Formats: sequence, C-alpha cells, structure tokens
Amino acid sequence: MKIKFLGGAEEVGRLGILLESEDSKFQIDYGVIPEKPPMFPLPPEDIDGLFITHSHLDHIGAMPIYYQGGGVEVFATEMTANTTRPMLNDSVKVTALEGYVERFNRDDIEKMYTLMNIAQYGRKIEYMDSEITPYSAGHIPGSTMWKFVNSQELMVTGDLYTRDSKLLSGAKPQKAENLIVESTYAGKNHEDREEVRKRLRERVGEVVEHGGKVIIPSFAMGRLQELVMSLADLPYRIATDGMGNLITSIYLNTPGYLRSEKEFRKAVGKIKEIRGRKMREHLDNIDVIISTSGMLDGGPVLSYIEKYVNDPKSAIFMTGYQAENTNGRSLMEKGTINISGMEVKPEMQVEFFDMSAHAGHDDLVRFIKDCSPNNVILCHGENREALLEDLANYNVILPYNGKEFTI
Ligand SMILES: [Zn+2]
Ligand SMILES: [Zn+2]
Repeated sequence: MKIKFLGGAEEVGRLGILLESEDSKFQIDYGVIPEKPPMFPLPPEDIDGLFITHSHLDHIGAMPIYYQGGGVEVFATEMTANTTRPMLNDSVKVTALEGYVERFNRDDIEKMYTLMNIAQYGRKIEYMDSEITPYSAGHIPGSTMWKFVNSQELMVTGDLYTRDSKLLSGAKPQKAENLIVESTYAGKNHEDREEVRKRLRERVGEVVEHGGKVIIPSFAMGRLQELVMSLADLPYRIATDGMGNLITSIYLNTPGYLRSEKEFRKAVGKIKEIRGRKMREHLDNIDVIISTSGMLDGGPVLSYIEKYVNDPKSAIFMTGYQAENTNGRSLMEKGTINISGMEVKPEMQVEFFDMSAHAGHDDLVRFIKDCSPNNVILCHGENREALLEDLANYNVILPYNGKEFTI
C-alpha cells in the first residue's frame, strides 16, 4: 500500500491522507489550517472514495474542492454528516467576510451531499477492494477511526481521545497491522479532567459571588456542549451564544452518539440560548456566557469581552488550544487582544483550564500498544519525535507532506 499526506503530516491541521492499493485509491479527510487566511493542503488527486474522520475544519475545510465539476463517493457517520454542512457553510461566510479568495461555494457543499454514504460504528462497509469499518474516536460526537482491510490492514485514528468525558465515551483500541495515529500532544500529558472540571466550577463560583461575569470562549463543536454539561447544575445563570447553539440542536436531534442523551438534554434545558442583538445587550440576569469563537477571532464572544473589558471582577476562562497568530494566543502570552483593530489589555482575570479532546502522551502510547501494530505512522503533530522513545519496539514512520512511502 502506498501512503501520501496531502497535508497534516508534520503539522496540526489540513489533514489529507491518500491510501493507494492495487485496485483503489482512498482519501481520509481534506482540511485546512484555520488561520487568517486559511492554509490549504496539496491539490486534490484522482481518488475513488473520501472518508471523513470528523467535522472540525482542519479535517473537512477543503473537501468541497473535490465536488467542483466532478465528485467522489464520501463516507461519514450521520453525526459527522449533519455537523459538516454548517461548519462548511460558515467557512464560506467567513471567507467572504474576510475577503479571502473563494476556493469553493455552497453549491459544491451541496453536491458533496448527493454522494454522501452514512456509516455506522462497528458496521462493515464493502467498497471496491476493501472492507471498511468505522469506530468511535472519542474526540467529538460522530468522530471516527476508519479501519481498512484489503491485502493490508490499516487503521486511521483521526483526532483521538481515549478517556471518557462528560459528553462522550473514550475511543477503544482496535487490532491493526498498520496504524496512522494523530500526535498533537506528543510529549505532554493533561491534568486530570475531573480535577480541571472541579477547579473550573470553583472559580466560576468565586467570580460570580464577587459580582463579576464569567466569559468562556469556546469552540462551537464538542467543547461548548461539554462545558454546558460541566456547569449547568451550578446555581448560576448560564447562557450560550454563537454557532454552538446550532451544533447543540444537531446533537439533540441525531441520536446514538452521546454518552447520555438524557443528561445532555437535562443540562441544555437549564441554560439559556442567546439569540439576536437585543438579547446580547441585556445581560443583567446572566452570570456565565459560553460563546464562539474559541480562539477569540470573531464571533459574539468579542462583544461580551468588550463590554466587561475594564471590569477586574469579571473573568475570561480559556479552555482550548490557541493557534499561533490568534487573539487567544495573544491573550495567553501577552495579555492583550485585538478588538476592532485596537490592541486592548483587558483588566479581567484570565485563566486557562485544559479541556483538550486530544489524547495526552501516555494515553497515546497505551492506545498504540493496545492496537498491537507493526507499523506506526505518526501525523497531526509538531513534536512527533517525543513519542519515539516510548515506541522503540515498533517500526515508527514519520511522514512528510507530499512524500509518498510504501508499507
Ligand atoms: Zn478535531
Ligand atoms: Zn485535528
């Protein structure tokens, strides 16, 4: 089998993996690096099938390019299919707003849906020369590890989380001779999730009891809903805003993916959804606001921060990875953010809570061992070498974008 990365080999983002056997050529994911402007992967190739691991833009953001003129059969879980459309439509909107070159439009996105095949966890698909089975990757609802069996056996994890969270059960290892695995957190372990949640709940309480507002910038998909589940039972008035509200309604209407739909529904029932400018301006009866964008680069969250920017009683709680050249990274490193072209230093309290949905170093090593592969191909990481020592018993391959290799 020949393997080539169109992106995402030695970097976090724009993943695209080509798997070529004698009789088929498949691709897993085709994403962007969601910077300003977004960075695209290498150009599309002539393929027989496209498999989506999950609906974050670094895995899907370039996919509609395949549907300009031609098209190819695409495979995803129902949850991934349902959440991919609003994410891509939003990226078309942002591209127009920011004045970037348009690489695809809404028609291309819709064309993709005419060739969509819905897959179910654990249920084998027979397609061309391969038997293909999707398994939960534990990263966000619908996220998938794809296992391909033809003359070779290979599994691609996509983004991976192996522990149970409030929202999802962790990924279970699967036996595979060849394993392509993400390595975002190579060399780093996370603080215990339960401890993080406890600290977050305590700090929310302290800020609100002292008369401040808590603003939590959050990714729309997965993170916002986990925050809702982590905080909803507190005796404070919590509200959500931005695209996360739409994703929440998709989660509620796509059964079979969450750890407990009942618990999720209960939590969502306790919070308020902010819709429209009028509600946004009347925050007297709200204590905690969870809103996009997670990296503070647009979305309603900036207007909330602007409102409380000079209030030292209020707080900004960050919970996610902050990419370079984003407001979020600037806030974490320099304490400043850019609002409407002005560099501002908020007087609010700023704190970080690690709620990552990527497996930490030790969990990655354990997961890889439990899959008992011969070849381990590390991707989607900037520090992949940090895993080499712990994987000394395996044939480890560190691929680079555009460089084909054979297993
Ligand atoms: Zn992801
Ligand atoms: Zn990713």
